[in-house]
Amino acid sequence: MDRTVFLATSNAGKLAEIRALLGGLRGWRLEAFPEPRLLDLVEEHRDSFEGNATLKARIASAVLGGATVLADDSGLVVDALDGAPGVRSARWGGQPRDDARNRAALLDALAGVPEARRGARFVCVLAWIDPRGPHGPRPWVARGVLEGRIAVRERGSGGFGYDPLFELSDGRTLAELSRAEKNSLSHRARAAAALLVALGRHRPGRAELC
Ligand code: IMP
Repeated sequence: MDRTVFLATSNAGKLAEIRALLGGLRGWRLEAFPEPRLLDLVEEHRDSFEGNATLKARIASAVLGGATVLADDSGLVVDALDGAPGVRSARWGGQPRDDARNRAALLDALAGVPEARRGARFVCVLAWIDPRGPHGPRPWVARGVLEGRIAVRERGSGGFGYDPLFELSDGRTLAELSRAEKNSLSHRARAAAALLVALGRHRPGRAELC
């Protein structure tokens, strides 16, 4: 019988992407986290994506009495802003989190910065813990990275978050891609692929796909 892994995210866009990316994980049934609001309390307290994802996975698992949990932390790292918004991407434009306000704040911060200096990357870190499994509370941690640059204006209506401003090397923004296209190359897709490889090794550790 399949075991259940709970996806510890309160973001509907990320939940849909992770479900699509890990839908083929054999032996596991993916379930939404029953209390997503609790997760917002633990987001972004650490200064690294790995720290946040692992903390979120540990807390979410404890809340569910030791269940198997997959948590993620992700964000946008902009070279001209010394790595900001980074782990603060979700609320960079202020509280409560608002994607349109975040994008406006990003365009403001980069006003006047020429195209050659608008390099950026999306980072996603997935942390999987299975406290009742043979390895106890040790996490599997997987990182995926997508390189691009920040456009001077928004384009496209797909995706979520900073997608309309994140330009790929072919000139399209992530919001101009179909969901399937985004899932074939995104930072989350790369982290998911790295996680599948790591889980296949049957012992906890780190994996990265850039
Ligand atoms: P968190 O992982 O919930 O802390 O939030 C990460 C934030 O980074 C999101 O709210 C978005 O603003 C941004 N972000 C992460 N992944 C993506 C993506 O695939 N597209 C656009 N924005 C993203």
